Amino acid sequence: MVFKNSIDLYKKALNLIPGGVNSPVRAFKSVNREAPIFVKKGQGARIYDEDDNEYIDYICSWGPLILGHNHPKVIEEVKKIIENGSSYGLPTKYEVDLAELIVEIVPSIEKVRLTTSGTEATMSAVRLARAYTGRNKILKFEGCYHGHSDALLVKSGSGLLTEGYQDSNGITDGVLKDTLTLGFGDLEKVENLLRNEEVACVIVEPIPANMGLIETHKEFLQGLRRITEETKTILIFDEVISGFRLALGGAQEFFGITPDLTTLGKIIGGGYPVGAFGGKREIMDLVAPVGRVYHAGTLSGNPIASKAGFATISYLKENPNIYKELAENTNYLLDNVEKLAEKYGVDVCINSMGSLFTIFFVDLEKVENLEDSLKANTENFSIYFNTMLDNGIVVPPSQFEAHFLSIAHTKKELDKTLEVMEMAFKKIGKKNAK
Ligand code: PLP
Repeated sequence: MVFKNSIDLYKKALNLIPGGVNSPVRAFKSVNREAPIFVKKGQGARIYDEDDNEYIDYICSWGPLILGHNHPKVIEEVKKIIENGSSYGLPTKYEVDLAELIVEIVPSIEKVRLTTSGTEATMSAVRLARAYTGRNKILKFEGCYHGHSDALLVKSGSGLLTEGYQDSNGITDGVLKDTLTLGFGDLEKVENLLRNEEVACVIVEPIPANMGLIETHKEFLQGLRRITEETKTILIFDEVISGFRLALGGAQEFFGITPDLTTLGKIIGGGYPVGAFGGKREIMDLVAPVGRVYHAGTLSGNPIASKAGFATISYLKENPNIYKELAENTNYLLDNVEKLAEKYGVDVCINSMGSLFTIFFVDLEKVENLEDSLKANTENFSIYFNTMLDNGIVVPPSQFEAHFLSIAHTKKELDKTLEVMEMAFKKIGKKNAK
């Protein structure tokens, strides 16, 4: 495969954009690649780069594209309004339609405010929790990523972890002091902390997907719910990834646990910029202009994003079998990956939930938290990534991210993927044997 146009674009971009990319993990740095691929277009489960190489895509825009690229239903709906105008700074019907659908489907949400990104949603939810409780401190879990607002960039996952650090520079000591962190899954420590400190909220990815995917134990979330209720702490489920992915009603429907506030993003914009935070009416009515917790946005609830999100969610709602099929396809793929790992003597621990999975190259029975995930062999991951890419399969360019499946990934794509995976596992096995 030739990557000339992507390499040229990257060289140009390096002089114009920090690191040549507008979000760090796109740089392919951690997988020792000369340049990322620059994407020209996508269709179904496939993307095409500026050199016209074709790939099966397991990034799916990091989650939004559960229906695959350019799903006809979404495009059809977007086309209907795109020529009307782009944004008005005044309300539109499409925001109300999307809000109505979210409130109908997500168990904990009685009222919802649309934003432009997941970062904005989590930032605003934390502010709201502080205002509601009158407390300052917040608790998050190591390796969970909740976007890049100051308060949440502590012991963070995703791109930071990939780059080899967890706390961003440029955050004041005051902010750092108010963000408490604990290991994911350590209920005893949570209980101890919440009984001894005044904490406004616990924010958690109900299925962490930003330190690689972690398979959450339901008991942990149940415990969080019980302790937060008893200590009058707000429980925020950050469902930016899990919302409408793990189940139609997200992780909260899947586990049957109702948080006080929920943050959403990704799928609810159908591939366009979006986010949302919502929850109990009583809490949400503190948001301006009803209350004095300020949140605003020039492009909040953008009509095109709202329409694309509405079309995506409506399709999921009308086709509830999708979730079962996605899980079956994921399991089909992963059962075969287990076999490949065994055949070539490669240590892996595979975590999966629904249509999300991570293949950790690690000699552990289970990867349960950040400490475990950091034990992964990133050199082996790099071989895996590069073999996949060089043979037409795009997987996340980091050991610490999840693969995403869409409904466009059919048996044909999965079998082609397995063929290339065999090449990767063979190479890793050979290297290990040396
Ligand atoms: N929360 C979670 C769980 C995420 O995975 C992300 C992004 O990947 C965010 C929040 C931030 O969303 P955005 O990138 O739209 O700002």
